[in-house]
Amino acid sequence: MKRLETCIRNIPDFPKPGIQFKDITPLIKDPVMLRLAVKQLIQPFLDNSITAVAGIEARGFIFASLAAWELDIGFIPLRKPGKLPYAVETISYDLEYGSATLEIHIDAVSKDDRILLIDDLIATGGTVAAGCALIEKLGAEVVACAFVVELDYLKGRDKLANRNIHALIHYQV
Ligand code: AMP
Repeated sequence: MKRLETCIRNIPDFPKPGIQFKDITPLIKDPVMLRLAVKQLIQPFLDNSITAVAGIEARGFIFASLAAWELDIGFIPLRKPGKLPYAVETISYDLEYGSATLEIHIDAVSKDDRILLIDDLIATGGTVAAGCALIEKLGAEVVACAFVVELDYLKGRDKLANRNIHALIHYQV
């Protein structure tokens, strides 16, 4: 059986020098591997009474919406600024160089929601930490965060102390 990690393509120096970009497109074009990845992303949380899956624009949408479909629950988009048409809650956070912003519709979640937050990859952890903060600003609980790829050497988990983190493929260097 083919392994998930064989479907991640490394692109050196994209989008800028020094970045080892983990390209998931070979994985998502393979229907067997795509299904395997989605099944593995949700597997630890099947008994956690998750009420919705949130995904981070843009590659996170691919896995999060399929996970929501598989769990038979709804999908919530966390988007880049200016994309969501209704009233939004906003959070800005630091990147390695510069800063970024994420937004969520103010009525996307409610206090009773138990959210599984999914992105394609965790690097420094800033993006997902901001996503968690945004969802929790609206009063919902982030039960767990799941990723296809974790760049262990960037220690993103340190920004998510005490959170339930699940990643399918790990890179040590
Ligand atoms: P971070 O906030 O540093 O954890 O970065 C995570 C976000 O940036 C995710 O939404 C990823 O899609 C993207 N990202 C960061 N580093 C990489 C990388 N080396 N390869 C692919 N995507 C990356």
